[in-house]
Amino acid sequence: MQKVAIIVIDMLKDFVTGSLKCDRAVRIISNIKNLLDHARNKNIPIIFSNDHHIPTVDKEFKLWGPHAVAGTEGARVIDELKPNEGGYIINKRRYSGFFETDLDLLLRELDIETVVLTGLHTNICVRHTAADAFFRGYKLIIPEDGVEAFTEEDHKSGIDYLKKIYGAEITTTSELIQKL
Ligand code: ZN
Repeated sequence: MQKVAIIVIDMLKDFVTGSLKCDRAVRIISNIKNLLDHARNKNIPIIFSNDHHIPTVDKEFKLWGPHAVAGTEGARVIDELKPNEGGYIINKRRYSGFFETDLDLLLRELDIETVVLTGLHTNICVRHTAADAFFRGYKLIIPEDGVEAFTEEDHKSGIDYLKKIYGAEITTTSELIQKL
């Protein structure tokens, strides 16, 4: 397999149990954890792509209300998936992990060709990050039990879109663990 990195998108306290709580997010925590444990054993890079909003100015607040405000507890990765000391964390202020961030630079420095996207939400930040990864020539792998959305329909149609429009390989975390 081409050189791969795992990207964990918005598995933050506000998105799982806080101000933008998503009940369905709970279902993917242990799947992502298994994948991250495996990646750590195999020295596969893990990158956390985290919402990190500036209070009052951020345009997203009009749509979603305040969430993942820089410096607050809600903007931290949930304890179950806590990054290792010195792990890669790339903060973002929009849906895409690439928009006005260092993510592409980091991936190029690590010689990454394939990105595995996990986290929240299938049809929002995962989708926009996938778009920017696709535009930059990265191959995409998405485990369908490693991403979630507010509703089953949002999740399913989100997966369908990622597959059709960006040619993402759709798999499961356990299949992926066997391959990586
Ligand atoms: Zn946000």
